[in-house]
Amino acid sequence: MPLQFQKEGGRLLWVQSPFTGTITYFTDIHKKQSGFARRPLAPAAQPPDWHAAEANRLAELDAAQRGCPFCPGNEEQTTAELMRIVPSAVPEAASTMSPWLIRAFTNLFPRIPEACTGGRNESYVVVEDPRHFADGARHHDELLYTALLPLAQFRTILHAGIEVARLAFENPAVQAVLIRKNQGRESGASQPHLHNQVIGADQPFPPVVQERERLLLEPNLWSEILEFIRDEGFMVHERDGCFLYFCPFGVFPRSYEIVCPDVDCRLIDVPAHTIDTFAALLHEALALLGPLPLDYEIHDGPGVPLHAHICARYYPYSNIGGTLNLPADLTATMRPTRR
Ligand SMILES: [Zn+2]
Ligand SMILES: [Zn+2]
Repeated sequence: MPLQFQKEGGRLLWVQSPFTGTITYFTDIHKKQSGFARRPLAPAAQPPDWHAAEANRLAELDAAQRGCPFCPGNEEQTTAELMRIVPSAVPEAASTMSPWLIRAFTNLFPRIPEACTGGRNESYVVVEDPRHFADGARHHDELLYTALLPLAQFRTILHAGIEVARLAFENPAVQAVLIRKNQGRESGASQPHLHNQVIGADQPFPPVVQERERLLLEPNLWSEILEFIRDEGFMVHERDGCFLYFCPFGVFPRSYEIVCPDVDCRLIDVPAHTIDTFAALLHEALALLGPLPLDYEIHDGPGVPLHAHICARYYPYSNIGGTLNLPADLTATMRPTRR
C-alpha cells in the first residue's frame, strides 16, 4: 500500500504514518484560545540588597553542581567508569579544568531488568560534557544543551556511544542496543546534566520490529516517504546519501527524522565516515530545536535502514483516537529552512 495522504487545493489535509497507522491532520487547532486563566505570579519582594541576591543565586547554582552525580568531582557517586575521553582529544571543545570531557558508566537503574540480560546491567550513561550549566548561567534553567556543543564533540559522543554499544553486545544475552537521549524534564530526563543513554535489551525494540515488518512487505516504502517529503518541501538537508527532514507523522507532532537508506546493518558495524555524516545531520536537527525539551532515538538494521527519530516535546497538539494535529499553515509558514 502506498503512503496514504490527502491534499486539497495543493494543501496537505492529512498523512498517515505507514508504520504506526497514526494520522496527522493539518488543522487550525493551534489557533484555539486557551480557557485556562494564567495565574499571575505573586509580586516579587524587592530584595533589599542586589549584591546579596546575586550571591545567593550563584551559591544555589554552585550547590546544584556539588549535588550532581554527573559533575566533575563527584565521579565516586556513579558506578565504575567504563570509558573517558580527555579534553585534549577534542580541541574544538570549550576549555575545561575537568580531567574528562566525555565519560561513560553503567546506569544505576537498569532500563531493562538485569535478569533479562543474563544477570548483567546493560543500561549505560554517556555524560556529554563536564559543564552542568550553560556558560555564564545565572538561573537554574540555564542549562547546557547538546546543540551548544561543537560538532566535533557531538561526533565523538556518538562514537563513544557506539563503543559502549559494542561492550553491551559482548553479552550474548543482548539482542539489540538503542542509543537514546532525553533533553529536558518534560521529555523524561531525570538528570539535568547533559547525557544520553545506551540500552542493551534481550529482544528487538518494538518500533524497529514494526518498521522491519512494513519494509519487508514494501521494500520501497522509505524511497516513497523521501519522495513525499521532497514534494511537500519538508527536506532540510541531504548529505552523502543521508537525509534530514521534518516528519509530519512522527510519534509527537513536531518530529524530525534522519535516514541513510543504503545503510542496513547494526550501528556498531556502520563505517566511521557514515557515522560522521549521521552525527552531523543529528547535530543539525538538535540545532533546529535548541534548548526545547526533546528526545531522540537511533534505530538500526538489519532489516531497517540506519535512522533516527527526533521528537520535540514542546508542541502537545491533541492526540485523539490515534490522530495528531499540526497547524494547517505549517507548509506555508513553518517550512523548516536550513540555518
Ligand atoms: Zn552536573
Ligand atoms: Zn525507527
